[in-house]
Amino acid sequence: MADVRNLIIIGSGPAGLTSAIYAGRASLQPLLIEGEAQGPGDQPGGQLMNTTEIENFPGVLDTQGPELMEKMRAQAAKFGAEILTKRATKVDFSARPYRVWVDETEYRAETVIVSTGAKPVMLGLDAEWRLLGHGVSTCATCDGFFFRGKDIAVVGGGDSAMEEATFLTKFADSVTIIHRRDSLRASQVMQDRAHADPKIKFHWNAEVIGLEGEAKLAGATLRDTVTGAESTLAVEGLFVAIGHTPNSELFKDQLELDEGGYIVTQGVATSKPGIYAAGDVQDRLYRQAVTSAGTGCMAALDAQHYLENLHTKTPAKSAS
Ligand code: NAP
Repeated sequence: MADVRNLIIIGSGPAGLTSAIYAGRASLQPLLIEGEAQGPGDQPGGQLMNTTEIENFPGVLDTQGPELMEKMRAQAAKFGAEILTKRATKVDFSARPYRVWVDETEYRAETVIVSTGAKPVMLGLDAEWRLLGHGVSTCATCDGFFFRGKDIAVVGGGDSAMEEATFLTKFADSVTIIHRRDSLRASQVMQDRAHADPKIKFHWNAEVIGLEGEAKLAGATLRDTVTGAESTLAVEGLFVAIGHTPNSELFKDQLELDEGGYIVTQGVATSKPGIYAAGDVQDRLYRQAVTSAGTGCMAALDAQHYLENLHTKTPAKSAS
């Protein structure tokens, strides 16, 4: 029978690594199951691994996304986190101790932090991964600043696309919203705001079928979804805003999820006592590295308090 640990953290973006740092410093010796690379956009470290310059994480300047994640990982290891470069493959949260499997190996813990993040939905073009961080972006708040005075585009017709386009007009000379239909999905108020903005143009009935540029994005090839005609739009920035998918599949029968698959939380508490969720897997709104780190910290502190209460009520279990 596997030893019962204090804490297992599943996922290694800013949320999971911050949890690991806090829990490590509290002598909880957490096990961090960090995942393993399975292709572009799917690797330990999360979405910042696909980011270039980081400018909006307080205290961090002149640093690339992967470098920041490497430092967070080293910090977690320094304070005693045991890091497993594997994917969690199954969980059973029906009773304590909670059970997490990596293939055939079972791990058990009194508390669990789920910090598996979310994936931006991408267009499905090979070039978008090559150009991600070099003109292609999935986060206007993160990258808008780099497009001052440029002509750029946003793909999508939902609230995210409208919000990103409106935000980006602070920097860009023009923002073209590329949408595959001739009417928007976005709420009326967001549509009205975008329509009223003189810097925003709409390119209706268009899908992006190619990206131009080698080292940096230079343009997008569009196909008219009605006529099939192809055209080129010269842009230096392309923001893909066609939705996010939370990485919550593993937990769907174990924790309460909302209709979009996000883990339902109160603060960072999930529907099961002693199980917490941090970062983008429970956040459809902010999705920032710094908010992920913040909720990761909250989850570690809550797990620590939960363990303290548990150990004052029942004899302590062995923690390996
Ligand atoms: P969304 O509502 O699902 O919209 C996704 C948009 O992307 C749709 O217009 C969709 O086109 C388009 N799309 C999807 N796949 C595509 C593809 N492969 N190629 C081209 N276009 C594609 O996603 P969201 O805008 O991220 O919003 C998610 C949720 O968060 C929504 O409930 C939204 O209201 C909420 N949200 C709220 C706010 C706010 O209130 N401030 C801000 C952001 C998000 P179709 O329309 O043709 O399907």
